[in-house]
Amino acid sequence: MAWDFETEPEFQEKLEWMDEFVRDEIEPMDLIWNHSGDVFDTKNPATRAVIAPLQDEVKKRDLWACHIGPHLGGKGFGQVKLALMNEILGRSSWAPRVFGCQAPDSGNAEILAHYGTDDQKKRFLEPLLNGDIVSSYSMTEPQAGSDPKEFKCRAFKSGDEWVLEGEKWFSSNARLAEFLIVMAVTDIDVPIHQGASMFLVPTDTPGIEFIRHVGLGSEELGEGMHGYIRYDCRLPEENLLGGPGQAFTIAQTRLGGGRVHHAMRTVGQVKRALDMMCERALSRHTQGSVLAQKQSIQNMIADSFIEIEQFRLLVLKTAWVIDRGDKAEARKYVAAVKVQTPKVMTDIAGRALHIHGSLGASNEMPLAKLWAQAPIMGIVDGPTEVHRVTIAKQVLKDYQPSDGLWPSMHLPPRVVAAREKFAQHLELEIGNQ
Ligand SMILES: Cc1cc2nc3c(=O)[nH]c(=O)nc-3n(C[C@H](O)[C@H](O)[C@H](O)COP(=O)(O)OP(=O)(O)OC[C@H]3O[C@@H](n4cnc5c(N)ncnc54)[C@H](O)[C@@H]3O)c2cc1C
Repeated sequence: MAWDFETEPEFQEKLEWMDEFVRDEIEPMDLIWNHSGDVFDTKNPATRAVIAPLQDEVKKRDLWACHIGPHLGGKGFGQVKLALMNEILGRSSWAPRVFGCQAPDSGNAEILAHYGTDDQKKRFLEPLLNGDIVSSYSMTEPQAGSDPKEFKCRAFKSGDEWVLEGEKWFSSNARLAEFLIVMAVTDIDVPIHQGASMFLVPTDTPGIEFIRHVGLGSEELGEGMHGYIRYDCRLPEENLLGGPGQAFTIAQTRLGGGRVHHAMRTVGQVKRALDMMCERALSRHTQGSVLAQKQSIQNMIADSFIEIEQFRLLVLKTAWVIDRGDKAEARKYVAAVKVQTPKVMTDIAGRALHIHGSLGASNEMPLAKLWAQAPIMGIVDGPTEVHRVTIAKQVLKDYQPSDGLWPSMHLPPRVVAAREKFAQHLELEIGNQ
């Protein structure tokens, strides 16, 4: 019977090497180069010099860009192994870049590998996989994110070129990207899910205008990493990615694994928050004892441990479901993981912050920053409400309405049926009394 919570020894060795490598060689980078965008700036000579030998080491150990499947020329680790790797990588914002799997480039590479022509692979995928350039994904619009039916950005044929017209909002890393993957409506006469297409758009294409570089939360206004972009440009025919009308099929390829990796990185982050919580609870003395001896603090630690274990198992099961290839089942699980990610982060980072008091709220611990990321995780890649709808629809598919007025578990008829089933024994019981 295959039911195992252990990792096979050869892969466990790789994970142990990664654990040490990330801790000793990569995590210190987060303390120096920690502005938004630093990780994606492939032109910075200082960070290039630091990460180049680290990337070489990762490549030597066959751990580079492991998200690319074997049929597409990658390692073919599968999602469970990738999830376990991402649990470690989540501890550092630099680690995914050093391992060649940072979002959104990992998802963009995946769809290029799947749908790109040989020429597109050579031009866009190869430098992306080599880590020489970064890319951006441009789907959300200023007036619409979670409802694509409201999308207005259009592309239409003019001679042997495509004309791309419209605005996109929150295209992450666009200002540093060499190219963008842009979703545009190409057929207005069919529902958007059949009428949108994907385009490969080099960022130096004439007619691309950055209206603003939008930042997150407390970042400087206008200095952020999320592009508000106006497109009014012409693209050669060969810049269409996949077929016309295929945008949503392509987008789906991109998001499944990515959400699991995000979630597992969150596991890595909240485990660290629990570590900090426990250390502080054992160290801080107040009202006659260390915090760890107070029941309310013990509750927080216990709840955090339980939530991490539950979430980790859900993420690993989701990865396993994806590996088995049942797409409908995978959709349900991926959505579940997506819903749970911000919740686990809010709860555990929030408790860790709280237990540290003013120090937790300060910028001298990483907890306030982590906690502030949680609500953002509930919006990226679609808001929680939308994913809940996906889960409910998938769950409901396995059910039918009850026959007649009463639910199938209504007790009175079931008791009658049970009495009939055991009539002989019941008669005996009464007879013996
Ligand atoms: C950090 C970050 C990075 C991002 N990077 C990218 C990127 O690289 N490329 C890109 O294209 N986009 C990107 N996005 C955009 C992201 O995909 C959208 O923000 C997301 O899809 C939600 O769209 P919206 O912001 O327009 O919110 P809306 O669609 O306006 O939703 C706002 C709120 O309305 C409610 N709501 C929406 N739909 C429903 C519903 N069906 N039922 C009930 N309530 C609902 C929810 O509370 C939701 O949070 C990024 C966003 C963030 C925060």
